[in-house]
Amino acid sequence: MPFGLTEGHFLREKMERYSVIQEKNPREIVLLRGGGCAYKACTFCDYYADSGPDVAENYRINRDALSRVRGLYGKLEVINSGSVFELDSGTQALILQVCREKNINIIHFESHYLYRKQIPALRKAFADFDLKMKLGLETFDHAFRERVLKKGIRETDPAVISRDFDEANFLFGIRGQTLESMQKDISLGLRYFERICLNVMCGNSTGVKPDREVVDAFVSRLYPLYKDNDRVDILLNNTDFGVGD
Ligand code: SF4
Repeated sequence: MPFGLTEGHFLREKMERYSVIQEKNPREIVLLRGGGCAYKACTFCDYYADSGPDVAENYRINRDALSRVRGLYGKLEVINSGSVFELDSGTQALILQVCREKNINIIHFESHYLYRKQIPALRKAFADFDLKMKLGLETFDHAFRERVLKKGIRETDPAVISRDFDEANFLFGIRGQTLESMQKDISLGLRYFERICLNVMCGNSTGVKPDREVVDAFVSRLYPLYKDNDRVDILLNNTDFGVGD
């Protein structure tokens, strides 16, 4: 999942929850609030704090964000600090309603791999729309993903991993990664997904820190190759999509 948030976002009312991505794959984007990530074990992540048990309060926040959607470009990306399945049913119904009213055809949602078996039902519930499900994969390198990042995806076969998903997030800039490993992830990502999002690690409250050399290798060698590729979003900073704080 993209790095939209950091521990500082306890200032929730100041958090930007709506933005328009103008460049590649133009779309509106909303950052909604759910009941919280069910997994919470990824070692690099602290942004699941943007959640709350109060369904009514979450709905109010989400309704405000969704009220700003105008139907520009016919595409809406919905992110929350976790998976779409952690949004309350009222919010899910509201997304459906807003997308119908605003003539949106394509909706992007995010999900952890653990919810993959629920995706066919979600696609059915949103059958009037082209759903693009985005997986927080971070890397195809199984050992790095599971030993270092603790992502919770046991599967190793890229064809199986990508089966229920259309898009994927990758996380670059951490010690142990190399130019070659990042290049391999991008190549595999473009082979197995329609679109990929490359997130450069930013400092946060976790013990996983950006590694200057790895970040520099990405920025100097890979960024120039993919910055104009329409199938590749690149977030050098965690608020590059315009949401978060
Ligand atoms: S699944 Fe997403 S929100 Fe949950 S801990 Fe991992 S990166 Fe964070």
